[in-house]
Amino acid sequence: VLKYSPFVVSFRKHYPWVQLSGHAGNFQAGEDGRILKRFCQCEQRSLEQLMEDPLRPFVPAYYGVVQRDGQTFNQMEDLLADFEGPSIMDCKMGSRTYLEEELVKARERPRPRKDMYEKMVAVDPGAPTPEEHAQGAVTKPRYMQWRETVSSTSTLGFRIEGIKKADGTCNTNFKKTQALEQVTKVLEDFVDRDRGILVSGIPHVVGSSLLFVHDHTGLAKVWMIDFGKTVALPGHQTLSHRLPWAEGNREDGYLWGLDNMIRLLQGLAQS
Ligand code: ATP
Ligand code: MG
Ligand code: MG
Repeated sequence: VLKYSPFVVSFRKHYPWVQLSGHAGNFQAGEDGRILKRFCQCEQRSLEQLMEDPLRPFVPAYYGVVQRDGQTFNQMEDLLADFEGPSIMDCKMGSRTYLEEELVKARERPRPRKDMYEKMVAVDPGAPTPEEHAQGAVTKPRYMQWRETVSSTSTLGFRIEGIKKADGTCNTNFKKTQALEQVTKVLEDFVDRDRGILVSGIPHVVGSSLLFVHDHTGLAKVWMIDFGKTVALPGHQTLSHRLPWAEGNREDGYLWGLDNMIRLLQGLAQS
């Protein structure tokens, strides 16, 4: 169902490039086979470290910082370049989608956001509190926490952000897709009943945001993307990535979400 049109950017190599989430205008075409993403220091650090990490094969190759028209970008591999008319799915991993620091900041210095209030009301007019209605605004962590509770982030540890299928249809309206059966249906539709492609990617995926891409030739891959909020842990702290989050423990639920994702995909592969 074509609910929202994706941001289709025409790239020099003459294949349509698709951005399934984030702000329109955050991405530009780079040198061939590369894309430019609006600069973010945290993401730069993460990508630099990942280039030296065992996870390197599962993230876009990083080519450093570039300037264009007075703006700064992180240059990275275009993961769509090798595909022919691909189907693409973005799944935001984890049981929490904002940093604990953002929560602390919002508490100390609340910044009311009208845009987020409006997005909230568009999905559920009853969601804002009477106070928020009066203000016509909500804070960012409040908006993000609410999105977690209405989506499968809270129930499965991941949520589907958007899907573009090979036939051109695109859907980024999964904000309330929460129930296991709903999520399974969406995944099933994405793999297009071609269960062969399920086997290729599954065992190799570890970590955060996942971008699934497959095409009619049978090429199917999964990458981790979007490291704008990937930060080192302080001191000697380690995470289970599976335990529930409570403020201060920094648990992110990445592996819990991944376990659930794998369980659902394996269920589909066997059905
Ligand atoms: P948000 O934080 O809201 O998720 P963002 O601005 O951090 O957005 P990303 O999530 O990194 O942006 O990317 C947005 C979309 O762009 C992805 O859903 C995907 O469709 C596309 N995309 C991102 N990186 C790549 C890449 N290396 N190759 C191909 N497509 C990509
Ligand atoms: Mg993202
Ligand atoms: Mg991001």
